[in-house]
Amino acid sequence: MNKVRQINALINGENYQNGKWVDIISPTTNEVIGQVPALTKKEIDDCYQVAAKAQKSWATTPLLERIAVLNKWKELMVEYQEEIANLIVLEIAKGKTAAVTEVTRTIDYIEYTFEEMKRMHPRTYTGDSWGIANKMGIFQYVPKGVVLAISPFNYPVNLSIAKIIPALVAGNSVVFKPASQGSLVGLFLAQLANVAKIPAGVFNAVSGKGSEIGDILVENPLINVISFTGSTAVGTGIAQKSLRTDLILEMGGKDPAIVLADADLELTATKIIKGAFSYSGQRCTAIKRVLVDQKVKQALVKLLVEKVNKLKVGNPEDDCDVTPVINEKTVKYIKGLINDASKKGAKILTGNKFEKNLIYPTLVDNVNQSMALAWEEPFGPVLPIISFTNVDEAIKIANASQYALQAAIFTTNINSAMTIAHALDTGTVNINDQTQRGPDLFPFMGVKDSGLGVQGIHDALISFLRPKGIVFNWSDKKENK
Ligand code: NAP
Repeated sequence: MNKVRQINALINGENYQNGKWVDIISPTTNEVIGQVPALTKKEIDDCYQVAAKAQKSWATTPLLERIAVLNKWKELMVEYQEEIANLIVLEIAKGKTAAVTEVTRTIDYIEYTFEEMKRMHPRTYTGDSWGIANKMGIFQYVPKGVVLAISPFNYPVNLSIAKIIPALVAGNSVVFKPASQGSLVGLFLAQLANVAKIPAGVFNAVSGKGSEIGDILVENPLINVISFTGSTAVGTGIAQKSLRTDLILEMGGKDPAIVLADADLELTATKIIKGAFSYSGQRCTAIKRVLVDQKVKQALVKLLVEKVNKLKVGNPEDDCDVTPVINEKTVKYIKGLINDASKKGAKILTGNKFEKNLIYPTLVDNVNQSMALAWEEPFGPVLPIISFTNVDEAIKIANASQYALQAAIFTTNINSAMTIAHALDTGTVNINDQTQRGPDLFPFMGVKDSGLGVQGIHDALISFLRPKGIVFNWSDKKENK
């Protein structure tokens, strides 16, 4: 049995706890493996006060000095990458290789963000093109103030740092709330930030159950920006409750893979299996439905079944592809979706086997639009297959979802690819590849119920900055001395 590890919050440069704790449960064993502080309203309100105060001097700290301090933090992440990856494995049951990749990708993200911030040059305009002589405006980028960063469980390092670093390097202060399941590693990162000597109050990490402290977190009037990643239900609730605050919301998805009759089926099946089942389908950009031309459905299904059977299923410590999902509630939800589809005539091709929170990868054929599985985001290793008879039907089904994060199109005909890509009402369309976030310098955004605002390194920086203008006016009169 693992020992129960307690990690403190970080408020105003101090490791902080109040004697009340939230249990962190192993997805693999359902046993308590750790505890983080259950903070109260007063402690969280005080945290915003110190963040607002500390931001003033951080904003005027020269950029290269801010980068130097944050770079020390990054170097500590490099030094402790093994421990960070092990915490990810333990706490959210991600396979070890994927956990290590998450950490190294995050380190690349930080380095690129430092460079991108150096390129955030001011913009200059003259009044000339408006018919006004002797006027010139310089518009610098300045930080917005205090940022609340709320991250989800599934990428507890990458999706936390992808908010925190752009916000900090841009001169904001941050109050960071990791997902409870993900807060051991989140608060461990915060401890490293303290070792790196990020000035007290500039970066703070708070913990507690979102259902208990969520309103306290988002309704504070000192917040200038909320950057949230998580479910659509929680994200839309935050949008309703937050005060006069800028919002960036990254929420759920139901990304379709649209397979045309002329697709390279071997490549398509490989990409679909990776896209749908990596980290057990617990990715916002996982392929969550296959829409396939009925002419090639049987051939594709045969390849999908072959490939799904080769996935390694088991514990994260054994570096498996499909590992236990995050909690028992998710298992119950997924069982319900499979049973509903099954009762309405769907055919289960593989999987539908459960051991504690481990769900064997499940392919469900003959799914139709009357089934919840066609529309809901399972966030687990289950993939519905829906057939279509013509491209217009595929586009209609794809666009009928409340979600619109990404889509994939598999075809060897560039004309079909471009025509469908333009017709899809979604954030990004991938042609002949799985849906995916990244490379991280690309803009990343969902529309409809999948999101608000744009991420990706440049756009993340923009979201934490605002232009501030200084306008020069002068006279042509020459001074005679
Ligand atoms: P979640 O349950 O919505 O939780 C996300 C975060 O919100 C957690 O830190 C959670 O804290 C907190 N929270 C919960 N209730 C809150 C409230 N009332 N007010 C404020 N914060 C609250 O999502 P999840 O299960 O961690 O993540 C899975 C979801 O995230 C999926 O829908 C997935 O598609 C989405 N996602 C989207 C993207 C994207 O880029 N679009 C990326 C990754 C994941 P607690 O953990 O303490 O409850």
